[in-house]
Amino acid sequence: MEYRDSVEKSAEYLRLALPLMAKQAAALHPISYAVWYEYVGGRNSALKAAIDEYQQSGKVLDEKATYELYYKHVARISEEVAQRVSEGFQRVMADMARSAAKAGDQAGQFGSALEKWSADLTSSGPESSLGIEAILGLTRNMQGSIVSLKGRLDDSRREIEELRQEVVRAREDALADGLTGLANRRGFDLAIAACLSESDPNEAGPSLLVADIDHFKRVNDTYGHLFGDRVIRAVAQVLKANVKGKDTAARYGGEEFVVLLPDTPIEGARQLAEKIRMLVEKCRIKRNADNEVVANITVSLGVASLKPGESAADLVARADAALYESKNGGRNRVTVAKG
Ligand code: GH3
Ligand code: MG
Ligand code: MG
Repeated sequence: MEYRDSVEKSAEYLRLALPLMAKQAAALHPISYAVWYEYVGGRNSALKAAIDEYQQSGKVLDEKATYELYYKHVARISEEVAQRVSEGFQRVMADMARSAAKAGDQAGQFGSALEKWSADLTSSGPESSLGIEAILGLTRNMQGSIVSLKGRLDDSRREIEELRQEVVRAREDALADGLTGLANRRGFDLAIAACLSESDPNEAGPSLLVADIDHFKRVNDTYGHLFGDRVIRAVAQVLKANVKGKDTAARYGGEEFVVLLPDTPIEGARQLAEKIRMLVEKCRIKRNADNEVVANITVSLGVASLKPGESAADLVARADAALYESKNGGRNRVTVAKG
């Protein structure tokens, strides 16, 4: 889903969304923002139908319902929407703060003109200045409320900035794998797309490394699923400790990992794959129950370097084919893809 609303349009959506959000039981967090922004935008018909059904049955959206709607109908929230939502909001607030400041200045000028006028009149006789005193008092009150309005607007702007950061954090969470803390499949897809769009066809790299735990089903069957999860985390730890800078290590699926190396030519990638293979082989993972140490965890790897004009999908497929050569060749080994 792409968000191409202008700042004005998204500010308008926010104005519409806020009163609707306020009627629900769910808190006013970025997830509800995203849901209601979509709702008033009117383009997400499935979401609209789902919410309308809720409302017709007289129910309000609680946390659970809001999150469910979010994951079902909006989960592909992009950085752009986060940006637009907060920019629109910031803009509305900034406009209001500017108008308040301007009104304050004008009231100030008006006030000084009155003071001067009052002083002139006072010198010509006390009775003529009485009405002016009253007007002066009102003007001072007005100036006071404008100052406090401006203060409140500044507070709101700070709150919006905090919300914006929360949306950014929510997005980072959406791109991370919960078990290992590595990037998830979606995080990897974004990283490789960005990397390929920036890559210089005349430079070596980027390279890609694909790793899959060997006979993992056996590990699960022998020691249980929870231990299996610990093995996945241990392998992820090895990857994490061995990537740096612009590299992205991700959990691609169950027990399969990828490492994207934007600036590494194929030989460097092969050496890193070999190092990872060795480090995993050396892993000694303790079992909770009796401190028995499980060894023999191994991974098979495939390595490929981007060919000029190649797509991300084709690069992944070539690295994957190399990985399967490693499996067929006896596992616990590294294979470099054919160029
Ligand atoms: P190979 O050496 O050919 O890769 O064999 P394998 O057993 O590793 O591969 P297979 O694809 O047959 O099995 C992978 C297993 O990984 C099956 C699945 O239950 C398990 N698995 C996938 N995700 C998770 C997870 O998050 N945690 C645990 N514990 N197991 C998982
Ligand atoms: Mg496997
Ligand atoms: Mg697998």
